[in-house]
Amino acid sequence: LLEAPLQSRWNSSEASLQKDVPVTESKDGKGFMGHSMLAPFTAGWQTTELHPLVIEKSEGCYVYDTTGKKYLDSLAGLWCTALGGNEPRLVAAATKQLNTLPFYHSFWNRTTKPTLDLAKELLETFTATKMAKVFFANSGSEANDTQVKLVWYYNNALGRPNKKKFIARAKSYHGSTLISASLSGLSPLHQKFDLPAPFVVHTDCPHYWRYHLPGETEEEFSTRLVNNLEDLILKEGPETIAAFIAEPVMGAGGVILPPATYFEKVQAVVRKYDILFIADEVICAFGRLGTMFGCDKYNIKPDLVSVAKALSSAYMPIGAILVSPEVADVIHSQSNKLGNFSHGFTYSGHPVACAVALEALKIYKERNIVEQIRSISPRFQDGLKAFSDSPIIGEIRGTGLVLGTEFTDDKSPNNSFPPEWGIGSYFGAQCEKQGMLVRVSGDNIMMSPPFIISPDEVDELISIYGNALKATEERVQ
Ligand code: PLP
Repeated sequence: LLEAPLQSRWNSSEASLQKDVPVTESKDGKGFMGHSMLAPFTAGWQTTELHPLVIEKSEGCYVYDTTGKKYLDSLAGLWCTALGGNEPRLVAAATKQLNTLPFYHSFWNRTTKPTLDLAKELLETFTATKMAKVFFANSGSEANDTQVKLVWYYNNALGRPNKKKFIARAKSYHGSTLISASLSGLSPLHQKFDLPAPFVVHTDCPHYWRYHLPGETEEEFSTRLVNNLEDLILKEGPETIAAFIAEPVMGAGGVILPPATYFEKVQAVVRKYDILFIADEVICAFGRLGTMFGCDKYNIKPDLVSVAKALSSAYMPIGAILVSPEVADVIHSQSNKLGNFSHGFTYSGHPVACAVALEALKIYKERNIVEQIRSISPRFQDGLKAFSDSPIIGEIRGTGLVLGTEFTDDKSPNNSFPPEWGIGSYFGAQCEKQGMLVRVSGDNIMMSPPFIISPDEVDELISIYGNALKATEERVQ
């Protein structure tokens, strides 16, 4: 096995490092401060070792760096550029709106036409259950923060001031603001940030391969987890639990699909205790799983839904929440009593973002994006799952156009490679070297290509994955 630790792209000489990024010398003369940005989700930004990959241009499923190197963008930015990098209709929609009304707000019963049109369109697009109202935010994190405020407001209106806790799941990702990071079940988001906030409790991650007991079927595993959920509700007191939040398929936690019967059983339990169900569809919505929404795929009938990312194909920042008629009614009656619903952002329902999102939804419908994803996804899923036999792969899992690979030794969930070997980082660096960007998180690799990926591009993606895997296997032996 390995003698020396593997290195990540940020300090690997094998990666396509860029040396021409401005580096600023620190004033105290003690060293260099790296580039001037405090980079999100990045380690080592205060060192000279950090040479970011600077992306300059995008075209379809590809992005180009400042040296002109081309990469197949297997994560679609951050699971979001659904229509690829240069959809002219989205650019035209933004330009037209910028030329007409670049901004107006939606406070105090003023708003813009694209804002109203998008709200209507979203309600028509979501058919898993009837939704009544849409609130606009600027990101998935803001959408989930808003969910918490709405749920608290709702329970205050109903005279249930103690029903305020949220149940989220280990390994979930719901964003990185104070509240959405608290909901997230990933410890790096909490460590040293004094999180999670005390009103959040976490329940099991529904990852069958990693957590099932010997001989336990998926259905039995789901039953055990939902029994644990019910025990948690009873321990905390059902009168204190306001809502349960879940991604239909967990994304950033490693692409984790719900086991058979999981959501059916979860919904029965939360309904029993009058707990609202929030579907975080930020990654899953608009076709990613081969259905318009994750709720369609898993027969989820939520009370509240969060969307963002593919809503505008990421061309403009926008997030939204969909609110059921029951919740909306209570919120309205409360705000009528108070004389105002005092929540919103300057850019809630930004007309340019809404115009772009409207066009994106129109394109999804016109091009029958769900069918398109259904027809391309077997090539993507089967092509990659064919590598499942690799001795360094524990599990490859996915559906539609989202897929995760987890590296472990002996194919066992219990035999992780030592983190200092950096297996995932090495694989990621190999992909990058060969012209493909993947998401690396420890020894998890995640991919969610643009919805428009062609058969040839899928084949290219599979071929680069195969070469990177071979190189990683050789490195481990
Ligand atoms: N919810 C889910 C499921 C996500 O995957 C993300 C981002 O990856 C978020 C929420 C947060 O969205 P944003 O980064 O737009 O704040």
